[in-house]
Amino acid sequence: MGKAGGYLLHNRENHTNDSQNERLKNYDEFARLLSTEEQRVQASRCMDCGVAFCQAGLTIKGHTTGCPLHNLIPEWNDLVYRGDWAEAYARLSQTNPFPEFTGRVCPALCEVACNLGLNYTATTIKDNERAIIDEAFTAGIVEPSTPATRTDKQVCVIGSGPAGLAAAEHLNRMGHNVTVMERHDRCGGLLMYGIPNMKLDKDIIERRIDLMKKSGITFLTNKEVATKEDADSLLASYEAIVLATGATVARDLLVPGRDLKGVHFAVDYLTNATKLLLNPEHEGDEGLSAHGKNVIVVGGGDTGVDCIATALRQGAKSVIQLDIHRLPPQVRTSSNPWPEWPNTYTQDYGHIEAESITGEDPRIWASTVKELFGNEDGSVSKVMVAEVLKRDGSNITYGDGQLFDCDMVLIALGFSGPEQNVIDAFGLEKTSRNFPAPRSKEGLDRFRSSNDKVFIAGDMRRGQSLVVWAIEEGLECAESINAMLS
Ligand SMILES: Cc1cc2nc3c(=O)[nH]c(=O)nc-3n(C[C@H](O)[C@H](O)[C@H](O)COP(=O)(O)OP(=O)(O)OC[C@H]3O[C@@H](n4cnc5c(N)ncnc54)[C@H](O)[C@@H]3O)c2cc1C
Ligand code: SF4
Repeated sequence: MGKAGGYLLHNRENHTNDSQNERLKNYDEFARLLSTEEQRVQASRCMDCGVAFCQAGLTIKGHTTGCPLHNLIPEWNDLVYRGDWAEAYARLSQTNPFPEFTGRVCPALCEVACNLGLNYTATTIKDNERAIIDEAFTAGIVEPSTPATRTDKQVCVIGSGPAGLAAAEHLNRMGHNVTVMERHDRCGGLLMYGIPNMKLDKDIIERRIDLMKKSGITFLTNKEVATKEDADSLLASYEAIVLATGATVARDLLVPGRDLKGVHFAVDYLTNATKLLLNPEHEGDEGLSAHGKNVIVVGGGDTGVDCIATALRQGAKSVIQLDIHRLPPQVRTSSNPWPEWPNTYTQDYGHIEAESITGEDPRIWASTVKELFGNEDGSVSKVMVAEVLKRDGSNITYGDGQLFDCDMVLIALGFSGPEQNVIDAFGLEKTSRNFPAPRSKEGLDRFRSSNDKVFIAGDMRRGQSLVVWAIEEGLECAESINAMLS
């Protein structure tokens, strides 16, 4: 195997997936990495470009292309190629505290920007990343990041999603004393209660939380910070506070019949599905299962895909996804050149799984719900799905409609912003969109709120986004706090 021109010798090979038939029988992760030897071959395809867009993390036309964490991708690709997995892990952990999360759930913004992808197939960067961290865990070299010395500063992180976890990890490494408060019974935010187990096994999150506990971070679960009394008490006890409580206010479906039984927000449904899986005896609500139901998922994004995949595993009778966008082209158009995020037709795992059952992609393009109709008992029974001819903000011009039988509607229309109670509890100034107002648009002060001691990070600051961005925000927020405490 030669490194020089590896891409000329070897084609791109992704990880494999368990067959649709097999994986629909359970909620296990189904992506199987190549062998370490095969992954070395894949790493040899990296060209080690002079200008490595993959690690630049550029934002073009509102979409990121390249890694927001500026992972040292060509360096660790080369180390993987050389078989020096330990050093590859050392390089990877310089920039990414949780590669076992991103190596599983990141949409691989890096691969879109890989120079090799301009004329050929991109390097398997995300698989290489996961292989490095999985190999490091197998080799037992992932240690708690306990600092050599401690400062006397106390920092409280509210919210344990990827942003809160990254802030906590980085502040702890700097020697500060960190306490994380989480309102749920388990830590992880949307990693735990949002992203389904088949994409990210919940044991992977627990393994990381255990390491963080061993490194000296205190985690308090079932601990909501919501009132002025809570906030005042924290402000009196801690030198700095991080608000990383996400952007969890779901966009609603404002149509007649919305209040019928059987109409749920996607995250409530997905949270319940994970609870049923983790502790079926005590936690989940069987009534929220899709078993035996005709399910309509409203919203064409990733959350909707997770709903499809979960509903299929629960034994749904049928699943349809409504996407308000028109069917995208099969290949890039001239107005969407490399390295922009490609706006082309793709199928995510839930679409492939649904098609394996029905023979058809479950999406109806350029469509949405116009009205819901109920049974006498007040539960949804039919849905009028209409073609979307034109959109102007929330005003829609409808085309032809079609009535579908339906027992469950899952609303996956995204999130409008953060919950207000915690922002109000700390009395923070807000933007016109009801986000906490940052001190500045630039530099580390963009993580500081109007209160000197209160910092903001993740979806709560930038709006609904990605795990990789939440991690990046947590790390930078920690830098901002450290600068204030030093
Ligand atoms: C269903 C779904 C699937 C997704 N899939 C992907 C994916 O595959 N890849 C990807 O990159 N991104 C994905 N995302 C987006 C990604 O999960 C988020 O961008 C990311 O989790 C945001 O991290 P965060 O830490 O800012 O907030 P969150 O993950 O939302 O965490 C916020 C935490 O704060 C806690 N909290 C809130 N208020 C309080 C309070 N008052 N007191 C105490 N605790 C509080 C919450 O319980 C939660 O644990 C998905 C999102 C959803 C909804
Ligand atoms: S975090 Fe995401 S964008 Fe960055 S290297 Fe990993 S897969 Fe690529």
